[in-house]
Amino acid sequence: MDLSFTPEEERFRSELRAFLARVVPQEEPPSDFAAEFEFLREFQRAMHRGGWVGIHWPAAYGGRDATPMQQAIFAEEMARVRAPQLVNRVGINNVGPTLIHYGTDAQKRRFLPGILSAEEIWCQLYSEPDAGSDLAALRTRAERQGDAYVVTGQKVWTSYALQSRWAILLARTAPDAPRHRGISYLIVDLRAPGIEIRPLRQMTGASEFNEVFLDRVRVPRENLIGTENEGWRIAQLTLAHERGANYAIKEQVLARIALDELLAEVRQTPRALDPAIRQELARLHVETEIMRLMNLQMLSKVGRGETPGLETSIVKQFWSDLSQALGEASVHALGPHGILQRDSRHVRAGGRFVQRMLFSRAATIAGGTAEIQRNIIAQRLLGLPRT
Ligand SMILES: Cc1cc2nc3c(=O)[nH]c(=O)nc-3n(C[C@H](O)[C@H](O)[C@H](O)COP(=O)(O)OP(=O)(O)OC[C@H]3O[C@@H](n4cnc5c(N)ncnc54)[C@H](O)[C@@H]3O)c2cc1C
Repeated sequence: MDLSFTPEEERFRSELRAFLARVVPQEEPPSDFAAEFEFLREFQRAMHRGGWVGIHWPAAYGGRDATPMQQAIFAEEMARVRAPQLVNRVGINNVGPTLIHYGTDAQKRRFLPGILSAEEIWCQLYSEPDAGSDLAALRTRAERQGDAYVVTGQKVWTSYALQSRWAILLARTAPDAPRHRGISYLIVDLRAPGIEIRPLRQMTGASEFNEVFLDRVRVPRENLIGTENEGWRIAQLTLAHERGANYAIKEQVLARIALDELLAEVRQTPRALDPAIRQELARLHVETEIMRLMNLQMLSKVGRGETPGLETSIVKQFWSDLSQALGEASVHALGPHGILQRDSRHVRAGGRFVQRMLFSRAATIAGGTAEIQRNIIAQRLLGLPRT
C-alpha cells in the first residue's frame, strides 16, 4: 500500500489549506434555518471566488480537473478545519456531472455557472411516497403535449426544495414500457405554476426536507436531459456521483473531531470513571481508527488508478453505524447535559452533541438504506442468492 503524496499533491494541499485559513468562518452558523442557509450560501460564494467549488468538474466548465487523489485531499482538508458544507451540493455533485455528460450545449451554458456560484440552488425530485429503495416504482407522470411535458405527481424527502430554484426530476413518460425503460429525466423550474412545496419538520427542529406536489406542471421539451425514456440510465450516473467519491474521508475526519470533542467534555466530569461509558468510548475510538484504515485502503486503490467497488457499500454501512453509535454515546456520556438544545443556558458545545445524535438517524437511510447495503454485500461479496 503506497500512501505517499506526490510533490504536486502536497502543493495542492498547501494551496488549499492557506485558502481555507482565510475563508472558513470562525463563528458557529446561525441557529435559524433560513439564516443558516444564507450563511452557507455566502461560504460557497467565497469558495467559488477562489476557484474551489466543483474541483472535480472539467476546467472547461469552471472546475479544476482534480484527480481522485486531489478530491480526497480536498475532502480531508475541508473536514479538518470543520468547513461548512457547500450548500449547493446537489447541484455540484449530482446535476453538474449529469449535465456535463448528457446535457446539450445550451443546457450546460445556461445552468452550470449558477451551480458553482450558488446563485441557483438545485434539488433532486426522485423519491416518492411509494418509491424510495425501489425507485423504479415511481409513478409521477410526464405526458408530451406539443413542445412541453405536462408533469403530475408527488415527490417526498426533497432536501432544500424550498430554497431551490431548479430541480432534476424523474418521471414516467411511457407507462406501458418495462418499468426501467419508460422513465425520463427533466429539469424543472420550481417557480412554474402547479408546484406546491410543503416543508417537513424533522426531529432536529430544522425543515430541510419537503414534500413536492406537481399538478399539470409544464416543462419545456428543451429541459429534457438526454433522450426520452433514457432517464433510468442517466439517473445511475447521477446516483454514482451523489455523495461525492470522498464523503467517507470527510466523515471519518468529522467522526474523529466529534469523538475528541466528546472526550474533552467527559474528562471534566465524574462520568469519566463510569466503566460502561469508558467501554463505549474505547470501542468508538477503535471503530473510528478502523474507518480511517478502510479509507486508506480505498485511497491506495484510487492511487493505483482502480475504482473502489464493493468497498463503498462496506464503508457506507460501517460509517452509518459508527455515526449513530457516536451520537448515542454522546448523550449517554454527558448525562442530562447531553440532551440540552442550543437555546438552553446549560448547553455544552453549542448543542452539537444532541444535534449530531438526532441527525445521525438519517445515516442508515440516505444514499441507500442499511438493509439495501447489506443486501448488496450479501449478494455480491458473500455469494448469497438474490431474494
Ligand atoms: C438525509 C436524507 C436526504 C434525502 N434527500 C433526498 C432528496 O433530496 N431527494 C430525493 O429524491 N430523496 C431524498 N431522500 C430520500 C431517500 O432517497 C430515501 O429515503 C431512500 O431511498 C429510502 O427510501 P424510503 O424512505 O422510501 O424507504 P423504503 O424504500 O420504503 O424502505 C423502508 C424500509 O424497508 C427497507 N427495505 C426496502 N427494500 C428492502 C429490500 N429489498 N430488502 C430489505 N429491506 C428493504 C429499507 O431498508 C427501510 O428500512 C433523502 C433521505 C435522507 C434520509
